[in-house]
Amino acid sequence: MLANQFSTVKETDSSRKNVLIVGGGPAGLATALILAKRGWTDITVLEKRPAADYYEPDKSFNYQIDGRGQKLTDLLGLTQQLAEISVPSTEFYLTQIRPDGSRKTSKLPMVDPNRKTAYWLPRRAFVRLLYQEIQCNWQNQIAVLFNTKCDRIDKTEADKLKIVANAENGRVIEFEPYFLVGCDGVNSIVRNALQEWDKSDRFEMKHFPSPSSGLRYKVLNLPPRFPLDTSGEERAVSDMTYAVRGSFRDRMRSVSLGLLPLKNPNEPRTANIITRPNHEIWKLKSGKEVCDFLEKAFPQLPVRQILSPEECDRFAKSEGGYFPEPQYCSGLYFLLKHAQADKDRSTAGVVLLGDAIHCFPPDIGQGVNSALEDVCVLNEALSQSNDDLSRALPLYESLRFRDVKALIRLAQTAFPWQYNQDALGKWLWGINFFLRLALSRLLPFGFSPPAFFLIQNHRLSYREIWVMAQRTTRTLYALGLILICVFWGFSIKDS
Ligand SMILES: Cc1cc2nc3c(=O)[nH]c(=O)nc-3n(C[C@H](O)[C@H](O)[C@H](O)COP(=O)(O)OP(=O)(O)OC[C@H]3O[C@@H](n4cnc5c(N)ncnc54)[C@H](O)[C@@H]3O)c2cc1C
Repeated sequence: MLANQFSTVKETDSSRKNVLIVGGGPAGLATALILAKRGWTDITVLEKRPAADYYEPDKSFNYQIDGRGQKLTDLLGLTQQLAEISVPSTEFYLTQIRPDGSRKTSKLPMVDPNRKTAYWLPRRAFVRLLYQEIQCNWQNQIAVLFNTKCDRIDKTEADKLKIVANAENGRVIEFEPYFLVGCDGVNSIVRNALQEWDKSDRFEMKHFPSPSSGLRYKVLNLPPRFPLDTSGEERAVSDMTYAVRGSFRDRMRSVSLGLLPLKNPNEPRTANIITRPNHEIWKLKSGKEVCDFLEKAFPQLPVRQILSPEECDRFAKSEGGYFPEPQYCSGLYFLLKHAQADKDRSTAGVVLLGDAIHCFPPDIGQGVNSALEDVCVLNEALSQSNDDLSRALPLYESLRFRDVKALIRLAQTAFPWQYNQDALGKWLWGINFFLRLALSRLLPFGFSPPAFFLIQNHRLSYREIWVMAQRTTRTLYALGLILICVFWGFSIKDS
C-alpha cells in the first residue's frame, strides 16, 4: 500500500524546490512527512511554540484518532506506534461519580462492531509522535524551527513568495519558498495574506451558528492517580474516563468535570470545564475562590488534596478559551502567476489545510481527523498530477471543498447539545437522535442512523453523510406532514 501510494512520484522540477510550512501542529507535521515521502526535499516547518510536546494547560485536550485520521497514520506507517501510546476505543470505560459519592462504570456501547478501533491520546503525545518520526527518519529533508513565528507573507512583483519569520533572540529569518503551506490554525496568517492578494471572498471565513459556539472552557490539571475519596484509598485510574457530576442544580452554578483516558499512568490528568460564558465559575478571581467553589460543587472529591493552591491560582488567572463558530473558507489554494516569457519557470503555489480552512467546536471529535484527511487528499492530488502544483492544487480544492462544506453543516447539527447548556435544546435534540436511531434499526432502507454515528464510519465522506442525514430529515418532515393531515382528516370527520 505504502509503496503504491508513493511509487508514482518522479523526480520532477517541483520535487527539488523548497517548501515552507507555517504551523507545526498535526496538519503541518503530517504535511511535511507526506511531502518528504513523496520525494520533496528542503522542507522547513515554522512553529511558534517552543517544542512539539510543549505543555499548555488550556490546550491539553485529548484527540481521538479514528479511521479517518488513521488513513494518514497508515500512509506514514505510524498506526502501530499510535496504538502503543493510546487508549483504544474498544477499552473505553466511563465511570460516573455522583455528588453522593456513588459510582457507576459502564463500557461505551459498540454501535458498529465493524468500525475501526479509534485511539485516544493527548494532543501533545500525537504531535510528539509525528515529530519523532521526522527526527528519526527525515532529518535530511525536514527542518522544524521551534520558537519561530511567521510574521509577514509578501508576494514580490516578480511573483515570488517572500516570508519573514522571527526566531529566538529577535533573529529575523527570510524565506523564498516555491511551495508555501498554511497549517497555522484558525487565525491563519497565510490565509489572511491570500485574502489580501485575491481580492475576492474566497479566503474569507464564512461563519455559521451552532448551539455550542461561544461556550467557554478552561482546563484543570490534576495529578496522576489523584485520590477519589478522603481516605486516599481509591485512586483515579489513568485509562478510565470519568464524568464527575456536580452538586449544584441551578444553571448559573451547575458544573461537571470530564476526564478523558490516558495511556501513561504517570502523566497528569486534565479535567475540562465547559459552560456558558456567564457562569459563576468564570467570575472567580482568586485561587481561594476557585478552591472554595469546587469544594462545594464536588463534595464527593477531596478537592484540597487533589488541587494545589498554585493550580487553583493558575485556573483563576487563565483566560481559557471560547468554542468557535463553525466556519470554512471556499478557497483552498492560490497559484502565483508567472511571466509568459519565463516558460521554464514552474508555478509557485500556496495551499491551506486543517483549521486554517475549517474550524468548529469539538462536539464531533473531527478537528484533528479532518485535518489529517486534508493531508491525505493533498497527497492524492499530488499523486494524480505528478507533483505539478499548477494541476495538483486546483485538484486538491475540487476533491476536498464539498466535504469541507458538509463537515461544517455536520459540526453545526450532529451533537452540539452535549454540554448541558440548555435543558430544552438537549431534550429536543435527544428526541430527534433516538427517533432516527430507532427508525434506522426498524427500517434501515428508509432511514439513516444519526449523523454522529455515521461520522465514525471512515469509509463515508462527510458529503455522503450529510446527504444521508438530509434525506432522513426530508422523510421525517414528510411523515410528520402525513400524520398531521391524517389527524386533521379524522378531526374534521368526527366534528
Ligand atoms: C478546547 C478544544 C478542544 C478540542 N478538542 C478536540 C477533540 O477532542 N478532537 C479533535 O479532533 N479536535 C479537537 N479540537 C480541535 C483540534 O485541536 C484542531 O482541529 C486540530 O488541532 C487542527 O490541527 P491544525 O494542525 O490544523 O491546527 P492547530 O492544531 O491549531 O496547529 C496550528 C499550529 O500553528 C502554529 N502557528 C500558528 N500561527 C503561527 C505563526 N504565525 N507562525 C508559526 N506557527 C504558527 C500554532 O502554534 C500551532 O501549533 C479542539 C480544539 C479546542 C480549542
